[in-house]
Amino acid sequence: MAASPRSSRPHIVLFPFMSKGHTIPLLHLARLLLHRNTTVTIFTTLANKPFISDSLSDTDASIVELPFPQNIDAVPAGVESTDKLPSMSLFVPFANATKLMQPNFERSLEILPNVICIISDGFLGWTQQSAAEFGIPRLVFYGWNNYSQTICRSIVVYSLLSGPELDDEPIVMTNFPWIKLTRNDFDEPFNSREPKGTHMDFIIEQAITTSKSYGQVVNSFYELEPLYVEYWNRAWEPKVWCIGPFCLAESVKSDPQYHQKPTWLQWLDKQLAQGSSVLYVAFGSQAEISSQQLREIVVGLEASKVNFLWVTRKSESELDDGFEERVKERGLVVREWVDQRAILGHESVRGFLSHCGWNSVLESVCAKVPILAWPMMAEQHLNAQMVVEEIKVGLRVETSNGLVKGFVKSEGLEKMVRELMEGETGKEARVSIMQGLVCNFVNALAA
Ligand code: UDP
Ligand code: UDP
Repeated sequence: MAASPRSSRPHIVLFPFMSKGHTIPLLHLARLLLHRNTTVTIFTTLANKPFISDSLSDTDASIVELPFPQNIDAVPAGVESTDKLPSMSLFVPFANATKLMQPNFERSLEILPNVICIISDGFLGWTQQSAAEFGIPRLVFYGWNNYSQTICRSIVVYSLLSGPELDDEPIVMTNFPWIKLTRNDFDEPFNSREPKGTHMDFIIEQAITTSKSYGQVVNSFYELEPLYVEYWNRAWEPKVWCIGPFCLAESVKSDPQYHQKPTWLQWLDKQLAQGSSVLYVAFGSQAEISSQQLREIVVGLEASKVNFLWVTRKSESELDDGFEERVKERGLVVREWVDQRAILGHESVRGFLSHCGWNSVLESVCAKVPILAWPMMAEQHLNAQMVVEEIKVGLRVETSNGLVKGFVKSEGLEKMVRELMEGETGKEARVSIMQGLVCNFVNALAA
C-alpha cells in the first residue's frame, strides 16, 4: 500500500498506564498501527518518556509528555510509574493522582489533527470523559486476558465470593463449573466475602467508565480462550476484540543488531554450545518478595542443580553473599533490564519460572517455553490457573501448606523446578506447548 501524506493519515492516540507491564504491549500496538499507515501519538509522563522513546526510536511515533501531579497523598515526589512505588499499597493513590492530568491532556488533544480514536488504559478511566468531550471513540486496554476478566466480572456480578465459608473452599462458578477456584486465588480487593474499600471503589469506578467506552482491545488471541471471549461478548459490554499477541509485532532483536552482545546473551550461547538446558527465572517489574522467601529461592535453585538465568532487582547481599560464586558454573544472576523475549526465544531456554504477569505468559507461549507458575499478586493467580488447567502449558510451584498462596519452601521449589525441566509432567507441558492448538496459531501468525 502506498503511504499517504502524514497530514491526511488517521491519527490514533495511545495513553498507556505508567507501569512496564501496561506500557510495553501498547508500544507493540503502536508499531502495528504505524504499519497500517496511521499517525500515532503516545501520551506519557516525563520520567516514562525515555523508555518509550528508546523502544520506538526506529519509528515516527510522536510522544507528548504531561506533568505528573506532585504532592499527592503518600506518592513520593518524582515517582511516575508503579514499578518505582515503594509499595504496591500505594497503587490506588497513585492511580487516582493521574486524574489531575486531565486538563493538560485535553489541552494537548485540542491541537492534534485527525484524531479518530483514543486507546487508553482501563486504569485511566478519566480519559473516557475527555474522549466524549471531543467526540472521539475510546478503546480500553487493561493488559489482561479474557479468562481473568470474565472471572472477575462474574464473581462481582453474581456475588460468588460470599458463597464459601472458608478461603480455601471451592467457589461455585456459575456458568463455568469446571473452573476450580477459591477465595485464595484472588488478591486484594477480591479476596474477601464482600469486596469493599478504596481499591474496590477504584476498580468499580474504572469498570463503569469502561462500560461507557466504544470497546476493549485485548492482548490475547481468540484460539487461546474462545469460550471466554464469546461469553464476555454475549453477556457484557463493551465488546472485546482480541488483537494480540502484541509482542509478535516486533521481531526479537537478533545478534547483528546488538553493538556488543550483552553478558546474559553470551552466557546463553555458551550454555547452548555445551548442550545445557536453561531455566529462566523472573518475577516481573512489580513483585514484592520477602527476604525469607528470597532465601528459599536461593537454596531451592542451588539444590535443584539446573542451569538457570535469574533476572532480579535484588542486590548480591540480599540474595546471600557467596551464592553467585558457588553456582557460577551453571547459574547467572542479572540485575539489568533485559530483552525478555530474546531470552525466551534463545534455544537453550527450556523452562520459565514466572510470576505469570500476562505479558510474560504470552511471551512464553509465543516462544513455546513451558512455565513453572508462581503467581504473586493481582490477577496473576488466575493467569496461573489458566496456564496449568486451561491451556495446559505449565505446572505450579508447591507451597508448604498446599494452598495456592502459601509460602514456598526450597524443597518444594527444587522439586518442581526439576519436574519442569526433567520430569514427566514437565514433558507433557512441553509437548502441549510445542504441538498444541495454540502453537499452530502462533506458527501461523509468525509465518
Ligand atoms: N521485561 C523485560 N525486561 C526486564 C523485565 C521485564 O523486557 O528486565 C518485560 C517483559 O518481557 C514483559 C514486561 O516487562 O513484557 C513485564 O510484564 P508482565 O505482565 O510479565 O509483568 P509485570 O511486570 O506487569 O508484573
Ligand atoms: N485484580 C485484582 N485482584 C484480583 C483480580 C483482579 O487486583 O484478584 C485487578 C486486575 O489486575 C485488574 C482489575 O482488578 O487490573 C480490574 O478488574 P475489573 O473488575 O475492573 O475488570 P472489568 O470489570 O472492567 O472487566
